[in-house]
Amino acid sequence: MNQLLLKLSSGMLACFISASAGAQANLSYMQNKTPEYEDVISMYALMDDVYENAKLVTAGTTDAGKPLHAFIISDDKLFAPAEVHQHGKTIIMINNGIHPGECNGIDASIEFARELLSGQSIYSEYLKNTVVLIIPVFNIGGARNRSAYHRANQNGPELHGFRGNACNLDLNRDFVKMDANNTRSMIQLFHAWDPDIFIDTHSTNGADYPYTVTLIPSHHQQLEEPQAKFIRTEMVPELFNAMDRSPYKISHYVNVFRRSPEQGFEGFYQYPRYLSGYTSTFHALSFTVESHMLKPYPERVLSTKRLLGEMLKFSSVNATKIKEVKQESIAISENRKHHVLQWYNDTSQYDLITFTGYKAKTSKSEVTGQDILYYDRDDAWTDLVPFYNYFRPNIETEAPEYYIVPSAWDDVIERLRLSNIKMKVLQQDTSLHVEIYFIEDYQTTRQPYNGHYLHFATRVRKETGSIKFHSGDVMVPVKQRGSSFIVNTLEPHAYDSFFNWNFFDAILARKEYFSPYLFEKTAERYLEENSDLKNEFLVKKASDPEFDQNSSAQLRWIYERSPWSEPTYRRYPVYRYNTK
Ligand SMILES: [Zn+2]
Repeated sequence: MNQLLLKLSSGMLACFISASAGAQANLSYMQNKTPEYEDVISMYALMDDVYENAKLVTAGTTDAGKPLHAFIISDDKLFAPAEVHQHGKTIIMINNGIHPGECNGIDASIEFARELLSGQSIYSEYLKNTVVLIIPVFNIGGARNRSAYHRANQNGPELHGFRGNACNLDLNRDFVKMDANNTRSMIQLFHAWDPDIFIDTHSTNGADYPYTVTLIPSHHQQLEEPQAKFIRTEMVPELFNAMDRSPYKISHYVNVFRRSPEQGFEGFYQYPRYLSGYTSTFHALSFTVESHMLKPYPERVLSTKRLLGEMLKFSSVNATKIKEVKQESIAISENRKHHVLQWYNDTSQYDLITFTGYKAKTSKSEVTGQDILYYDRDDAWTDLVPFYNYFRPNIETEAPEYYIVPSAWDDVIERLRLSNIKMKVLQQDTSLHVEIYFIEDYQTTRQPYNGHYLHFATRVRKETGSIKFHSGDVMVPVKQRGSSFIVNTLEPHAYDSFFNWNFFDAILARKEYFSPYLFEKTAERYLEENSDLKNEFLVKKASDPEFDQNSSAQLRWIYERSPWSEPTYRRYPVYRYNTK
């Protein structure tokens, strides 16, 4: 190929490539524009054509009926993950367009790739021992739903995609329930490559301040100590220093809404429902990059690109250490018994960080006549503010050796399998003495949340007993690298459990019941045969006048304590099993 000019359907010219001169820039973002989805893929396809060390592959399907694409940059032309791992390369995976209205990463990655491949990037030399994997657009349905009006609070680009995917799901809440094809494809791709560093690109909402880009790293309490210490004391400080030397200032993600950051802000603990939370759970040092929504679009793109470059540089320079702390963390995770199922922010602990903000002021709204918050860009301040980045356990548990999931719950088993969780399939029927949870209480959202009537505040009671299992049921050993995901999804009262995500709702309703007029004689006989229960019944009648006057309530009380009452009602059908 001599020369190839890519004509974009949106009428923009981009990615002019010649064999000798390499690719010229896609500069549409300089005009406050972002390319259409089809053009993004065409640009990567063109780079695949021209550069031998690049390859565009498909990786499963999406809800939009289009394949998910991944673009691999590998200087040694190793394009299979097993080969890349064999050669000891570090792997950076960059995801774009999970929220396609926040498209800075889509544009930044095209330019980042083109500059790296053409040797025009100051970071090209760092490809020697690092492979870069780019998801050009994750939420394809959202990206194709373009409008000038999806982001009311964002400064461009002119047309941009929509947050929901083709099924109107927010994919950045989908990584436990895995409703979307996009998510299931991404999860398989992630586990196939097992990246050391994972980056998810976004734009912020919320407060105004001078920083062009903010960062949510894997929370240090979500990682095992070797990775936690490394990200907290080495990687994040070095990335911040590097960005401070660039034109683009960086801050921790300013986690405040409808109030000023002057009083400080909280860290962000990402549970596994979030993409970066999921990848952190599986030992990738993960970063949600949030460019500031009010900065001009070119600055958002360029700052994101700069940060991607610094990530590559850091990854390359620190390759040995990154691999080392990952292996140490996996080893700890494999043997972890104690797990936190839900956290709360500890407001008594904080770090003081230097922060520059714009003075928050109020003015009279011309629309509502009420006071309204605004940030005065002519009145900047710099001060030490508390960063509340420590969490305390709210719910904890000691993991069993195994969870046993009956084969009937195959939606759950499939999600564990997609997450590369190793399982043993029972070869014959067997009865085992196990720990059994009963759902004592739970609450449910009044409105659906991303396609689910999510449960929360779930409380359980634990009993032990013998349960008959059948061939085909699966035993999930906790002793494996995904232990945190296993425990945090299979313990029903965990914040992000499969139970809370409605996978077991069928157990919450009775299937059989009784007719009082028919059960009356049975109840009489049953009480005669069970004197302890009869005494309990009489005490209850004597002490509870309302109960004493309500014959239905009395018969129900007896029914629920009799063998006719189904034992599986509210019995959580995943069991905890210890061999000794
Ligand atoms: Zn976002």
